Amino acid sequence: MNEFDLIRKYFTRPAPNALLGVGDDAALLQVSAGNVLAVSSDMLVSGTHFLPDADPFLLGHKTLAVNLSDIAAMGATPRWAVLAIALPKADEPWLEKFSAGFFALAQQHGVNLVGGDTTRGPLNLCVTIFGEVPAQQALRRSGAQPGDDIWVSGTLGDAALALAHMQGRLLLSESEFAASAQVLHRPQPRIALGLALRGIANSAIDISDGLLADLGHMLDASNVGAQIDLASLPASTAMQSHAATLSGMQCILSGGDDYELCFTAPAARHDEIAAIGTRLSLRLSCIGKIVAGSGCIVHDAAGNLIEPGSGGYEHFR
Ligand code: ADP
Ligand code: MG
Repeated sequence: MNEFDLIRKYFTRPAPNALLGVGDDAALLQVSAGNVLAVSSDMLVSGTHFLPDADPFLLGHKTLAVNLSDIAAMGATPRWAVLAIALPKADEPWLEKFSAGFFALAQQHGVNLVGGDTTRGPLNLCVTIFGEVPAQQALRRSGAQPGDDIWVSGTLGDAALALAHMQGRLLLSESEFAASAQVLHRPQPRIALGLALRGIANSAIDISDGLLADLGHMLDASNVGAQIDLASLPASTAMQSHAATLSGMQCILSGGDDYELCFTAPAARHDEIAAIGTRLSLRLSCIGKIVAGSGCIVHDAAGNLIEPGSGGYEHFR
């Protein structure tokens, strides 16, 4: 099968959001009146972000999910995506499953694939995603204010917990592994939450590199500090019996790949945010406060300071 047949068969679907989708030299997109584009790329590289034998359906899901997560963190509505893909060979069963995983999630969020590039090479998956948001309502990293509550969605560290088990750094029961592997392989981008937080949150970021690392980016961008209450950090059922161990605590504070949102909002919006969590059936936990200054302090229930070390995954460290 040549490149054009491959694109037609696996990556061409109706694109009602676009004036022109896959098939010409470029797609044509009309941004809705009053909105600006929120644009982001995320690349998944074989050997760095996933193993070469990763389940292709789940890989299709995750390739789009990590991009949707950035759109969620901006409070934007996802609309279009382009996919640049390097493949070692035209493996049809693999492509069938990869595109099924990709389009299942795309459909769920109303995103149209409108173009891309296809080339032979070591397996590499790069999506650029385009969302829409009224300019003044975009959730930036830079808006956190002293006195804001700090919130996170879902639970923390589950993806890292699954990875730690796979790498033999700790041992999970079968059910604990099944639950945490679901988070690792099938993250759920928090689009509905991002939209609900427009006009409520002062700042937001998605947690891709671990709570401390990503919260740190938000603090730097906002020129503020944070105090985090260790006991308030949301742990899943799978995490609960490991949270007190050093590796468990590291997963919660610094584990990457969760794709939950961390956001800040004035304390006066507390009840509204709790109501959003109820409406979306999504756990939302208030984990601390923004303070004047810089950096992040974590303390346990007894008030003792925790020294978390520098957390987060960095590629060039
Ligand atoms: P060009 O030679 O002009 O760069 P291509 O042959 O790369 O065009 O692509 C032909 C069409 O297919 C274009 O509309 C391009 O956006 C689209 N396309 C290529 N690869 C992909 C892909 N992996 N997913 C979606 N669309 C793709
Ligand atoms: Mg061309």
